[in-house]
Amino acid sequence: MEAAVGVVGGGPAGAALAIELARLGVPVLVITSPRPRRRFEGLSDRTVALLQRQGFAHACATLGEAGERQAHWNGVASRHNREYLVERSAFDRALCDDLRAQGITVLTSEVRSLQWQQNHWHITCGAQVVRVGFVVEARGRAAPAGQTRLRGPASLAVARFYHGPTTTDATAVIPFADGWAWLGRAQDGRRMVQFTVDADSVPGAGHQALTSLHQRLCADVPEVAEWVPDGVQADGPAVARACDTYLRDDLAGAAFLRVGDAACGYDPLSGQGVFLALAGALSAAAVVRTCVERPQDGALARQFYSDRLLGAFAEKTALGVAFYQQEQRWADRPFWQRRREVLPVPVPTVAGLQRVRRPVLADGWITEQEVLLTPRHPLGVWRVEDVPVPALLDHVRQSGASLGDYAARHQLALPQVERAALWLQQVGALAS
Ligand SMILES: Cc1cc2nc3c(=O)[nH]c(=O)nc-3n(C[C@H](O)[C@H](O)[C@H](O)COP(=O)(O)OP(=O)(O)OC[C@H]3O[C@@H](n4cnc5c(N)ncnc54)[C@H](O)[C@@H]3O)c2cc1C
Repeated sequence: MEAAVGVVGGGPAGAALAIELARLGVPVLVITSPRPRRRFEGLSDRTVALLQRQGFAHACATLGEAGERQAHWNGVASRHNREYLVERSAFDRALCDDLRAQGITVLTSEVRSLQWQQNHWHITCGAQVVRVGFVVEARGRAAPAGQTRLRGPASLAVARFYHGPTTTDATAVIPFADGWAWLGRAQDGRRMVQFTVDADSVPGAGHQALTSLHQRLCADVPEVAEWVPDGVQADGPAVARACDTYLRDDLAGAAFLRVGDAACGYDPLSGQGVFLALAGALSAAAVVRTCVERPQDGALARQFYSDRLLGAFAEKTALGVAFYQQEQRWADRPFWQRRREVLPVPVPTVAGLQRVRRPVLADGWITEQEVLLTPRHPLGVWRVEDVPVPALLDHVRQSGASLGDYAARHQLALPQVERAALWLQQVGALAS
């Protein structure tokens, strides 16, 4: 079997990338193995909106009603947000159904090795070998790690399922002295209690050790009793998953790209892992297409990808640290102290306004264009409201001509051009 692009791993990142590549006309196939264990996660409204926009109808059909998301951060109880509870084994199977419904070939098989031979990747999965020109690594945290550039504190999520009477969908985040708990319950009575703790506080990886630790943590966090009241039964032993924050080093090569958790992993406290995996993979599609169909622009595409990924990683990890810092009650405990450090992500800084050429995403390709760099936009801004801002700046500065004139000449709506001009004023490029 052959294709231009092989995506290994069919979670949110691999599935989103495959759908977008197929839309861009690039032949793609996905090889994925079923998720070995059930697990609950929470999806925000914007994650579900993005899934719907991308046509993941089967995956969305596995979600229940949005439930209340309670938080007890720094002693303040809040119930402002809502979250969709998702059981990831069923959800990931449905992602594959969505891919097939859109005509994409999905092989359900475990990828055992990737080998580069005679200008092609040879992907060994089950009894077959699939030949592709470009590999997208999307096996999440299970992807071979390669070199890791940055890593946060080693963390484990220790979770156990329960079953009880029917209830309403809801989730909660509850911090405690040595970590935080995430509690989820579904209408049909399934519940999950998950504790995120320092990896070095976990006595062993066996089911017995994990289950005893889980029982002790349940006793330490009184709020858990409300979620697992009498009549609710444990359903299987406790299991653990690594949930460190990390950034891999080998993000992209001439015929290789990492997406989603295979590229970088976030602390699950953000609750945005699936959104970030989807959004990152969607912008990666143009990068893969450029590498495959315009290899002369491959280096540009890889630069675009790693600049964007590092920028997003710096922003999200700094936000995560700020959130940990807000919880003051156990500031002297190792778990909370270790998460107050911002990771030193190498992102560019810009002192003033500059005009340079940079890779940008345009019509499904990565190309080079003039952009404006500002201290708040160190990666550069090419267009605002679809108006190329360097060109608009020239127009206003050189000819002093009106915005209406520019709009008419380029067949743009005047309010669009006015908003782009306002942005130029806000960054100090135009006098107000
Ligand atoms: C403890 C924990 C809790 C989390 N909670 C949340 C949450 O509440 N909300 C949220 O938005 N995010 C959460 N996340 C993050 C979220 O799970 C990930 O960010 C997201 O799933 C990443 O998507 P992905 O497609 O990159 O990887 P994955 O979702 O991991 O998908 C990888 C796919 O590759 C497949 N695969 C793996 N190995 C192979 C192989 N050898 N061959 C073939 N296929 C393979 C897997 O079966 C899977 O289908 C949590 C993460 C952790 C660790």
